Amino acid sequence: MPNPDYTGRFAPSPTGELHFGSLVAAMGSYLQARSRQGTWLIRIEDIDPPREVPGSAKIILSELGRLGMRADRPVLYQSTRMDAYNGACLALVEKGLAYACRCSRKVLRTDGTYPGHCRKLALDPAEVPQIRFRASDESIDFEDTVMGMNSQNLARAVGDFVIRRADGMPAYQLAVVVDDAHQEITEVVRGADLLDSTPRQIALQRALGLPTPGYCHLPLAVAADGSKLSKRAGTDPIGNARPETAISMALDFLGHTPPEGLNLDAIWFWAISHWDSDRIPRRRRLPAPVDVLPG
Ligand SMILES: [Zn+2]
Repeated sequence: MPNPDYTGRFAPSPTGELHFGSLVAAMGSYLQARSRQGTWLIRIEDIDPPREVPGSAKIILSELGRLGMRADRPVLYQSTRMDAYNGACLALVEKGLAYACRCSRKVLRTDGTYPGHCRKLALDPAEVPQIRFRASDESIDFEDTVMGMNSQNLARAVGDFVIRRADGMPAYQLAVVVDDAHQEITEVVRGADLLDSTPRQIALQRALGLPTPGYCHLPLAVAADGSKLSKRAGTDPIGNARPETAISMALDFLGHTPPEGLNLDAIWFWAISHWDSDRIPRRRRLPAPVDVLPG
């Protein structure tokens, strides 16, 4: 019987192949779940068609399988969940916590925050697709498993933010919150590039009456010169590495160095039994690319 108290997930966007950064996020969430005998799920965040690369969801899933990570339930595709996102947006408008906004990006202040023109207009969300959530002027605090205490004042840091876009598609922040609750996720494990999104997600959880899961943000894979990992061909450290090599590199990146010479099953067995989130570093250098296998 799986542990009912832990459910984790890996939630990639289908914008390309699995690269080192997404392998690290997949592995971190997988090991947090497996080391607790919990449930591990995969969600494909396919609600931003302009950014999607056809076929990449399939490639990511087959790559995860090849590397030994399989979900405990069928994969959830966000594109099947539009009614749930719309329902949540309209519920927030109904409660007065969100409002339709017809402004373009041109009205944003230089710091990117919205000055609030439409806040009191009560525009009809059936006619105006863009909806903004009212950011309250209070500090949202949370304790991250790896990154420690975090705090953000939403009104000052981001202002009223979009939860349904002008093209009618749900915003990332809203869809994540609705689906984490729907899948009963108890801990969100992901890259630290999303640390700044967490207070917005916690505010939405509170407004929608949904539970707030735990958060565990993994160090980002940055290049030796400090720049963000490039997706250019040949710069990704895992390239066409053998599964054993790719998994060992990602484990090492997360502060766990398995013995050499193990096969894939043995590496996973070692990783699940030795996994300790206290050993995940807050910052980490990107490893050098491994040699690409011939053929
Ligand atoms: Zn507006």
